[in-house]
Amino acid sequence: MSLIVQKFGGTSVRDAERVMNVARIVTDTFAKGNDVVVVVSAQGDTTDDLIAKAEEINPKASRREKDMLLAAGEQISIALLAMAIEKLGYHATSLLGWQAGFETTSAHTSARIRRVNADRIREALDKHNIVVVAGFQGISRRGDITTLGRGGSDTSAVAIAAAMHADLCQIYTDVEGVYTADPRKVETARKLKEISYDEMLELATLGAQVLNNRSVEMAKKYNIELEVLSSLAKAPGTIVKEKTKMEKMLISGVAKDTDVARISVIGVPNIPGIAFKMFSKLSAKDINVDIILQSIGHDGKKDISFTVAKTRGREAVAALEEYMVSHGAKEVLYDDEVAKISIVGAGMESHAGVATKMFEALYDAQINIQMISTSEIKVSVLIDINEADKAVKAIHNKFFD
Ligand code: ADP
Ligand code: ASP
Ligand code: MG
Repeated sequence: MSLIVQKFGGTSVRDAERVMNVARIVTDTFAKGNDVVVVVSAQGDTTDDLIAKAEEINPKASRREKDMLLAAGEQISIALLAMAIEKLGYHATSLLGWQAGFETTSAHTSARIRRVNADRIREALDKHNIVVVAGFQGISRRGDITTLGRGGSDTSAVAIAAAMHADLCQIYTDVEGVYTADPRKVETARKLKEISYDEMLELATLGAQVLNNRSVEMAKKYNIELEVLSSLAKAPGTIVKEKTKMEKMLISGVAKDTDVARISVIGVPNIPGIAFKMFSKLSAKDINVDIILQSIGHDGKKDISFTVAKTRGREAVAALEEYMVSHGAKEVLYDDEVAKISIVGAGMESHAGVATKMFEALYDAQINIQMISTSEIKVSVLIDINEADKAVKAIHNKFFD
């Protein structure tokens, strides 16, 4: 007998018909003699709708109360799925995050899992129940409900697989696997048979929504092989694992991230310590800085540009403005009409000219590059947000046609 963890995202449980579809997949797996733990997300756009409701009442609501609200979405799905499983003649037990043993940090809206005490899940499995767990949520040491950040149900599934030493962890979604680009945006995107943790981690971090990056990080740490597949079509999916046997492609994918803003501090004094002081202001507020570009100084002045998450953009400007201007900078510019486009691939380590090929694709499409950053297995560029989809297509065509 195997222990299988199956996770279903919001679109997979969108309405009654989809919930019944999931119940059939889950009960088929159980009927083959497996123990099954199912993790589900909130139905359809429920989480977005709850966020909108909170905004309507108080945009500055505390993170604790936001978590209390957001966790409700998953409570609905687990109960409905358990009812659907019962309807098919099987026993099911639904569990909220805290009931399933998810202990987290108290960083509301982006809590991290400290550990999963799976005793209660185990107990329910021993009684031949299919266990349905609410993804995305847990409980802090103080006993408050927490959530793990958007897309966090993937991480919930991997955490259970790790804690219970599951034999298989399947992430069911609304596409057939991990593709070389978002298949909803690029018709020629190809489904990957397999991808390494490192490449998947980069893709997820750089905007490929199909897996949450923390879930990949955790899968790598505990060596949990993931299978990403469709809840709607019976087709082989993508395996995410340590080493892939596949012939190395030059790149494994193109990703787009629109949660980016560019900040430029113009005319700062060209003296030692300026970058340190400037970025200290941001780290004091826990604001992460991504791509950084500094101009060569002239006339004793230089410009420093960098990117931050759009959601923290205004706050970052506020943190810098007064300080920088009082320290001699001319002005602080802000632009959130930008997107970061990245290529990812382990093949790049051993091949020259990969970045050049990406830049050529952008040149062919007459798209201007504002900033560039590279690492061993990725190249990212910052461009105008209005050209983002065109850029992804152009780059994808260059590498895969
Ligand atoms: P779920 O609700 O199942 O968690 P998500 O919406 O979070 O699903 O993620 C699936 C979506 O990710 C797909 O519908 C697809 O549009 C998007 N996506 C972005 N990049 C990729 C990629 N490289 N491969 C597959 N899907 C991708
Ligand atoms: N429902 C949560 C969200 O929309 C968690 C998830 O779907 O993974 O972010
Ligand atoms: Mg998701």
